[in-house]
Amino acid sequence: MAVSSPCCRHCQSPLEQEVIDLGHQPPSNAYLTAEQLSLPEITYPLKVYVCTACWLVQLPAHAAADQLFTADYAYFSSTSSSWCDHARRYVGAACERLGLGADSFVVELASNDGYLLQYVRERGIPCLGIEPTAATAAVARTKGIDTIERFFGVALAEELVDGRQAADLIVANNVLAHVPDINDFLAGMAILLKPAGQVSIEFPHLLELLQGNQFDTIYHEHYSYISLAVLQRMAGHAGLKLVDVERLPTHGGSLRVWLARCDAGLESDAAAQDRLAAILGAESAAGLTSLQAYAGFQQRAEAAKHGLLRFLLNARERGAWVMGYGAAAKGNTLLNYAGVSRDLLPVVADKAASKIGRFLPASHIPVISPEEWLSLQPQEVLVLPWNLAEEVKSAFRDQPAMTFYRAIPGLERI
Ligand SMILES: [Zn+2]
Repeated sequence: MAVSSPCCRHCQSPLEQEVIDLGHQPPSNAYLTAEQLSLPEITYPLKVYVCTACWLVQLPAHAAADQLFTADYAYFSSTSSSWCDHARRYVGAACERLGLGADSFVVELASNDGYLLQYVRERGIPCLGIEPTAATAAVARTKGIDTIERFFGVALAEELVDGRQAADLIVANNVLAHVPDINDFLAGMAILLKPAGQVSIEFPHLLELLQGNQFDTIYHEHYSYISLAVLQRMAGHAGLKLVDVERLPTHGGSLRVWLARCDAGLESDAAAQDRLAAILGAESAAGLTSLQAYAGFQQRAEAAKHGLLRFLLNARERGAWVMGYGAAAKGNTLLNYAGVSRDLLPVVADKAASKIGRFLPASHIPVISPEEWLSLQPQEVLVLPWNLAEEVKSAFRDQPAMTFYRAIPGLERI
């Protein structure tokens, strides 16, 4: 029986153009307990396509969202201090930009543990979090943040508007890529927004992913890999238009895009138009809306994999151990693509209580606390969340014997 091609999440055209194949992998947040190590693990193909009709780069649907975002999903945004600082600065800038005050209403989609809305609340601005993951929503409520535990889309947006909870600002940071039905999500924003309101969306920029060889940011929970040009197309389809863009250093290079309702009549000023044109121009020059940008990506990922393996094997030949720091999702993509397990990387340290005592999916490398890890006297440290490399390095500045490395874009000392 012929297997039909999967279809594009945005325009439903058949997906036929492969961008990169990272093999079969389990969901990257499926941290295992000791008991689960003796059970089978489900893996899915981790193969990215680009739609040659609308140029959305994406994973085809394999697993339902509720299978991947399990109740014990372990990522709590507040465990990263640099991420909380980023959120605090963002709230200050957004309040100033939109003149938000006690009579405004802010809704955050994927509000996690309240890492961002806590700063909105501090300013006395009413707000609401929407977060489908029970464990993180519960933590947000302990901070006094009203949180609805559901997935967002048109249905929930209509309920909120009926309940007079339309928003002056909708924040959607690092969630758009995780949404299976991206059209429904964007259409829901257009419904929830007050006529003069604005949406701000942050997402890792596809251009940086390709140019920085950040193939490890590809994982099953991350369905779409977004450029400004494709966001402009998808937002327009939903009744939203781009009004401004900023470049951010987060996640190896992100964009923060401001959008308004098409029917609001809001025009960007000349400076914002220049910023939008500059990024759209850079994407076009890099060939993101042709096949040019995607050629050679697989080979560059293989080169990084081989560099990592040589580094780990050389250490073992010298009788040394490299130890990992940061049990991040991107680390799981890298380690499983490279086939690294505990014979080459015996432990990974992480601050998150929800990960300590568990094992990384597929590689089965144990996650230990930073205190236990320090007692092993690590000397050569592989920082898996390379976007937090400086934070990790400065946290251990009183350990002069340690040297730090990252594997992306290629193996290098930091
Ligand atoms: Zn498409």
